[in-house]
Amino acid sequence: MKHISLWGLIVVPFALLATLGGVTVYLFSTATISNVSDNVGLHYIKETESRVYDRVTDFMAPLSILAELNRDAIAHHPEWLADLDTIGGRFYEQAVPYPYMTFISLATADGRYINSSRDPFGSRGDHHLANNYTGEPRSLEAFEYDPIQYIGPRIASEPSYPNYDPRTRPFYQDAVKQQGMTWSSISPYFGYHSLGVGLSTPIYDEQGTLLGVTATSVALVALDKYLQSIELVDDSYVFLAERNGDLIATSSDEALFSETNGSTERMSLSSHSNSVLKRAGEALIEGDQKLDVNGERFLYHLHPIELPYGEVWYLGVLIPESYYRNMLTEYSSALFFIVLVIFISIALAGSLIARFIGKPILRLNEAVNANSLERIRAIPQPLSYVHEINSLGRGLQGMANKLSDVMQNLEQKVAQRTSHLKNENEALLAQSTTDELTGLYNRRGFNLLFEQAFELAKQQNKSICTVLCDIDHFKRVNDTLGHVEGDKALIAVAAVLKQHFRPHDIVARYGGEEFMLIMVDMGKDDAVSRLHKVRQTLIKQPTHKDFPITLSFGVTCTDGSTHLTLEELVNDVDAKLYQAKNTGRDKIVD
Ligand code: GH3
Ligand code: MG
Ligand code: MG
Repeated sequence: MKHISLWGLIVVPFALLATLGGVTVYLFSTATISNVSDNVGLHYIKETESRVYDRVTDFMAPLSILAELNRDAIAHHPEWLADLDTIGGRFYEQAVPYPYMTFISLATADGRYINSSRDPFGSRGDHHLANNYTGEPRSLEAFEYDPIQYIGPRIASEPSYPNYDPRTRPFYQDAVKQQGMTWSSISPYFGYHSLGVGLSTPIYDEQGTLLGVTATSVALVALDKYLQSIELVDDSYVFLAERNGDLIATSSDEALFSETNGSTERMSLSSHSNSVLKRAGEALIEGDQKLDVNGERFLYHLHPIELPYGEVWYLGVLIPESYYRNMLTEYSSALFFIVLVIFISIALAGSLIARFIGKPILRLNEAVNANSLERIRAIPQPLSYVHEINSLGRGLQGMANKLSDVMQNLEQKVAQRTSHLKNENEALLAQSTTDELTGLYNRRGFNLLFEQAFELAKQQNKSICTVLCDIDHFKRVNDTLGHVEGDKALIAVAAVLKQHFRPHDIVARYGGEEFMLIMVDMGKDDAVSRLHKVRQTLIKQPTHKDFPITLSFGVTCTDGSTHLTLEELVNDVDAKLYQAKNTGRDKIVD
């Protein structure tokens, strides 16, 4: 099984989690938020567009409906043309619900003219009728509406136009030329600050004879007012324009045409003083676009509005990107904050796990692997706030304490046993190197000590004196006095020898009644002198009054620079003793 480290187990998942979180947030903030932000912008635009679209189509609908209605009615009732007053009344009544319906008119093929007319701003008091056949022939005059007679009193305040022949007017000529419903060009009403547009259609009877032309006209100021009234986000624009970029209405309150010396000129998007509208005019392409104007970026959408009879207007909406970007920046900040909190929580959880689980376990691991009970015993308590880890630490510590006690006992016992054995060994050694009878070193003890002393003297360049002595005719002692007395004599001789030498000199029983003495750092004279004293003592204080004890001595002394070996030394002293024995005994041969 593969092993993984505790840190790996803690750090790797948290690092992975953090990376995953980071990548998710990154993707979310860049890809998703960017998409979402554009969608928010487009959604806003579409919503605005849809409101304006409905309003424009609703506003324009009566223009074609009423023109069609009147065309068809007169086409089927050519006899009505005999009574234009009644038709005027009908026109008046048709216009009542539509305050911006400036004209509903009829021009007959024989040059008569009747209309319902009102000023372009939809003021009710101004609604009246006009014709060119009631007063002076061909003089266009205004009349009040009369619910019974239709043509009421003439309105003196309204100007009259002599020799008014509608058949010379563009609405009549264009319709006849087109032989069908015809849009007039959009132009300002004379004397009024409003654009207007009209539809006119020729009327034919069942035989296809031209009976006249009927027309409707509407004041577009209502649309301009409407666009200005829409509540839009700051710095955004809505406009209505023709295909060539001439403005019909805008959300900005600037004029849609200018008048110089009696001639009017329409305002075009592409020559507009407002740089945003100007830029929009330069990019009059249907669909979504992004426009940069003076360092600000706009989301721009141009949508066609198809009116009846082939007329197409364009509805443009522009909103600054900063609007929805700001909105989303706030959203991103909130998201960032949430993610930050999640990150901090993850980091906190990680550090808590590391601190309360990882660290104590590592500590335990180190202590256990240090091969030292003391390290385990030194684990602090409490080790961790985690119950199980703490209990593990306490358990280990308990085991270490017990083991330590056991080992201490064991060490004590081993020490006791070792000391006992040492004493026993020392006793055994002493026993094995001591002569039981005299208490001197025996031959074994002598050999051990002599070798050491000999080597040491050589190393330290010291003199060494060797004495081998043998009791003379000892056999006789035994033979005469018995072995017990012989033993006593041996003990006494040993004591005398010992007492005449230094405590650290080696005095050993070399054989039955032979003794060997080793004196390091003692001159021959000193040694011989001491031996003489031994002899005198034995004479003065005989071990047995009937049997004076004498000894023969061989003495060999060497200085520090000797080249003699141990064996040669022993042989030499042995030879000297032999010499003493053979030359009369009771003497010292050196
Ligand atoms: P010499 O002068 O030539 O040394 O004559 P000696 O009789 O001393 O020599 P020998 O070697 O013939 O005899 C030594 C005797 O010492 C023989 C032995 O019975 C006696 N002896 C050796 N060890 C002991 C002992 O432990 N106790 C007693 N009582 N006698 C011992
Ligand atoms: Mg002897
Ligand atoms: Mg002997």
